[in-house]
Amino acid sequence: MLKWIDIIRFAGTGNPVPDKKVVKTNDEWQKLLTPEEFRITRLKGTERAHSSEMCSLFEPGKYACVCCGTLLFDANEKFESGTGWPSFTQAVTENAIAYHKDISYGMVRVETTCNTCDAHLGHVFPDGPGPGGLRYCMNAVALKKVESNERKATFGGGCFWCTEAVFNQLKGVTKVESGYSGGKIANPTYREVCSGLTGHAEVIEVTYNPDEITYGDLLRIHLSTHNPTTLNRQGADVGTQYRSAIFYRNEAEKKEAEQVIAEIQAVYDEPIVTEVAPLEYFYKAEEYHQDYYSNNSQEGYCQAVINPKLRKFRELFKNRLKDTKEGELK
Ligand SMILES: [Zn+2]
Repeated sequence: MLKWIDIIRFAGTGNPVPDKKVVKTNDEWQKLLTPEEFRITRLKGTERAHSSEMCSLFEPGKYACVCCGTLLFDANEKFESGTGWPSFTQAVTENAIAYHKDISYGMVRVETTCNTCDAHLGHVFPDGPGPGGLRYCMNAVALKKVESNERKATFGGGCFWCTEAVFNQLKGVTKVESGYSGGKIANPTYREVCSGLTGHAEVIEVTYNPDEITYGDLLRIHLSTHNPTTLNRQGADVGTQYRSAIFYRNEAEKKEAEQVIAEIQAVYDEPIVTEVAPLEYFYKAEEYHQDYYSNNSQEGYCQAVINPKLRKFRELFKNRLKDTKEGELK
């Protein structure tokens, strides 16, 4: 997650290298863009506040640069700032946007441009919500909404090596990443989370296609593949970082989580103690934690702890698995 100190550093000493560069002359851009798009993005214009319906649009999806199509923002990071311009707390990647000191109009501000094609987007300010504290104040005209059949769910169910291995095997799940949510500081390290002092839970972020697997299915699988009745504990792992948790992204998900917990409660003798809380941010864990099971399946922990869990899971959810043969289970 980028913080204001990173923005100042980029604006002062140079921006991160983009994945690619798109360079066109103003004549070429003029042919591709509407006059208003050209004025805002290529001539550093500003649209009238409250001039776009994009401000009050919060449906899932992504936002791309209107000039070059590079993805810049995710709807998950969009918020109502009350300014009349679409506002975001973070960009999709740390190198999607470039930052420049802007002293026009007698103010000192940080201008944001598309790092791929240098389109002017708007400005970024240090008064945003959440742990990053950023407010990307964008011209709606500089962005285009990209529909996406991709949803994300964030669950804590003890050690993320285990939960990641389970969800990776499900049909309709396109990506699973291990990380941390629900704590007090930004960008925590594994060591800090393990101390129990930051308040984060070890979680996984599941990317899925809702046409193939629903949020309700994921909730049911989550609640039946770890023990949701042991407070701050999964088996031998003890501590708040191992708590059972569901981090929801909107009110509908919150309601569904509560319904599924009530439904699954019938299976357990003890009360379910799973935390249901709004997702503030998912911090991806260090690289060596990603795909831990598939990269380390011969190790003791995988053999002793993860393998039995996976076997039980495969038995329970046979019809939901990706097309891999039983023999491929390491
Ligand atoms: Zn661009």
